[in-house]
Amino acid sequence: MSALRYESRSSSLRKAINGYCRQCIYDSADAGTWRQQVTLCTSTECSLYPVRPLSQDADILLDVPRGPHQTVKQVLREVRCESRVCVS
Ligand code: SF4
Repeated sequence: MSALRYESRSSSLRKAINGYCRQCIYDSADAGTWRQQVTLCTSTECSLYPVRPLSQDADILLDVPRGPHQTVKQVLREVRCESRVCVS
């Protein structure tokens, strides 16, 4: 398989996974971008979980201790508070 063909297949696989995760979890009424919501997916038993697309701030988001029922909005608020951007 040529390098160009491999890259094309790899790219379409990435797009397919990104699209699947996005349609699976993204809620435009909830806080955060679709990538942040996918990053904070808690379905560790899902076969796509290890290869799900991550947001640029994934290392920060995934570092926040999180309960099973904590919403994306609560995680983002906690991250902002840790960054001392919290107003409360
Ligand atoms: S990893 Fe999460 S967002 Fe992606 S398909 Fe699985 S359950 Fe859905």
